[in-house]
Amino acid sequence: MKNKIKKLLILCSGGDAPGMNAAIRAVVRTALYHGIEVYGVENGYCGLMQQHIIQFQNDSVANCIQRGGTILKTGRCPEFLDQSVRAKCIEYLKKENFDAMIVLGGDGTFRGANLLAQEDDIKVIGIPCTIDNDITGTDYCIGFDTARTTALDAIDKVRDTAYSLDRNFMVEVMGRATGHIAIDVGIAGGAEYILIPEFPITTEQLVKKIKQKKRQKLTSIIVVAEADKPNHSIELAKQLKALSGIEYKVCILGHTQRGGTPTVKDRKIASIMGVKAVEALLAGHSQKMIAEQNGTLTLTEFPDPNHATRFVTSKELLNLNEIICETI
Ligand code: ADP
Repeated sequence: MKNKIKKLLILCSGGDAPGMNAAIRAVVRTALYHGIEVYGVENGYCGLMQQHIIQFQNDSVANCIQRGGTILKTGRCPEFLDQSVRAKCIEYLKKENFDAMIVLGGDGTFRGANLLAQEDDIKVIGIPCTIDNDITGTDYCIGFDTARTTALDAIDKVRDTAYSLDRNFMVEVMGRATGHIAIDVGIAGGAEYILIPEFPITTEQLVKKIKQKKRQKLTSIIVVAEADKPNHSIELAKQLKALSGIEYKVCILGHTQRGGTPTVKDRKIASIMGVKAVEALLAGHSQKMIAEQNGTLTLTEFPDPNHATRFVTSKELLNLNEIICETI
């Protein structure tokens, strides 16, 4: 028997990720299909605090599947860590008879939703969205494919200049504390070296590798993960120049990676996750996240706050790239 869900809220929180709109669209259409009233919170948990709520109809989500960012807007809301603030939100949710919520974001967003569910009887389901692809419990997060496609496109463009002017480039990509984006675009972009925080090397070791290289080339590209220190590649390039005399031009891709038209993969997985999130609520689930595990979509626990980040755990792809690029 299906659990009765009458009134559902959707909320985006934390960083934006391309594909969020496809997920919102799928949630709205699936909820309406099942006769559930569906509403959106604008601007994350601060929007909930301020009761910035809009009602969705089928056509409210028309023509948004191809847009990056989120039509609901998102945001960070430190006030939501305060229990008394959450209590006011719960009061509002009860008064308005909301019985379920689907949240799009990362582990912080899920922590907030989990607390709401613990402190009230509202049912919550999370959809993992972050270009960094670093949420424990899922192999894939909405936005990652678009971000790596954007980053790769930029590397290809940089390569034209590197070749034409015989220049070396260091391209810094996002990823917070992880190297998922860096590994993928490093391999796909033909980078000679890929530097990620999970397997750090010193500048001296990097210089040694560059000097040892059998086939010295006129141009090379190093992909550097931001490693929780955005813009650190500027300092790294300076150190490299001082130690080796070799100049690397620095190109920091930054927030260009967060926006833009979502790829087929992001739109498709976001659509499926959106439907599954509503179905999970109808099946009576709560405090769970939709996840991709070994190629299958499933429901799983929210990440343990002490181990919420999914890191690159194997050096295999870095080693493989060193063979391809003869940098071993
Ligand atoms: P992400 O969801 O991408 O991990 P953040 O960690 O910035 O992003 O979290 C997004 C928002 O979720 C925060 O601004 C806050 O409103 C809420 N949040 C995060 N952690 C908690 C927490 N421990 N308790 C309550 N709300 C939280």
